[in-house]
Amino acid sequence: MKKSPDIEKLENALRSSTIVAGGFLGTDSRDLNDIISSDLSELDGLGITITKLVSRMKEITNTAIPALGNWVKIDEKYEAMVEEAKGILTCPWPHSGGFDKRVTFLKNTKTNNIFKWTDLNIHLIEQHNFFEGKGSPYRIEPKELVESIF
Ligand SMILES: [Zn+2]
Repeated sequence: MKKSPDIEKLENALRSSTIVAGGFLGTDSRDLNDIISSDLSELDGLGITITKLVSRMKEITNTAIPALGNWVKIDEKYEAMVEEAKGILTCPWPHSGGFDKRVTFLKNTKTNNIFKWTDLNIHLIEQHNFFEGKGSPYRIEPKELVESIF
């Protein structure tokens, strides 16, 4: 299928972005649509919707925000902490609005495994179903995410 100029422009922006070192696509050579549909079908196979995933991520981040820099208890299994840096991240899709440079760390208190995401990850997943390309520093594996937050 021939790509529209808009999609090509977006893919170029995602590949060359200097906002995140390595860009949003990392070393992934697949088309944007392939990356998105492959992650969505993986999620589907796990029986989790984007809505459910995102609402859990937001719940955790919002619980940890008031305690900025300190670990807070989420439930019997998890503790979370947020860190903020100065500045704003912008979504590579063409729309307005920026995102605080906030990182949420979620620790499984049984395994001490720590999983992290940014506010921009939440937005990219929620609005664009985009978990970023393989090799991107902020790529989130849908399966790991599901196993790490529920
Ligand atoms: Zn966006």
